Amino acid sequence: MNIAIAIDGPAGAGKSTIAKLAAKELSFIYVDTGALYRAIGLCAYRNNIGSKDVPQILKMLEDIRVELAFNDKGEQIVLLNGEDVSSLIRTPEISMYASDVSAIPEVRAFLLDLQRNMAKTNNIIMDGRDIGTVVLPNAKVKIFLTASAEVRAKRRFDELIEKGMDVKYEDVLKDVETRDYNDSHRETAPLKPAEDSVIVDTSGLDLQQSVQKLISIMKENM
Ligand code: C5P
Repeated sequence: MNIAIAIDGPAGAGKSTIAKLAAKELSFIYVDTGALYRAIGLCAYRNNIGSKDVPQILKMLEDIRVELAFNDKGEQIVLLNGEDVSSLIRTPEISMYASDVSAIPEVRAFLLDLQRNMAKTNNIIMDGRDIGTVVLPNAKVKIFLTASAEVRAKRRFDELIEKGMDVKYEDVLKDVETRDYNDSHRETAPLKPAEDSVIVDTSGLDLQQSVQKLISIMKENM
């Protein structure tokens, strides 16, 4: 039987950085489900479809293919109709597009099997917003990772600046707060801790401390 670990939490809580390192240490596969919603957001953006234009987005879903694969370093890549879009999906515009399209129930249903199938064949750490509540309700360990909006915005801001992007801290903070609001107020699979999750606030922890904390929770509960 494969082991699944679910990590959910708001934008910028450090889920992907921490989960990636924890997966390496445990020799699990790391799956970032946000990339799937981002790929659908990118596709709408490229086709000049508004992020809330539900009829057009549903039409678009009829002929797109979204897949996850792994490169030779074992890193996840996301394919949109066969094209590797892994870096193109990391811009602030696409973050907002992803947040909007992810509120559409049909978009969530479209991605559900793909996510569940990953867990059938691998030991995985999967991160997202609804992994412990909807995608993998039977996950062996569920962690809800959070931090204050200011701390999360600062981390995102530093990341984007390091990638050479021209962004303002205030805009990143506004982005984080808007996405938090959208993600936790949508009707389908809103962002909330699963009842049986362990809540971890990383506001006062550095990366190393956060990774150690998560690994010890995983080992205790596995
Ligand atoms: O995790 P990341 O910030 O890359 O996710 C982008 C957006 O995709 C989130 O703001 C959220 O709206 C959506 N998402 C989701 N469910 C998931 C993962 C991401 O709704 N499991």
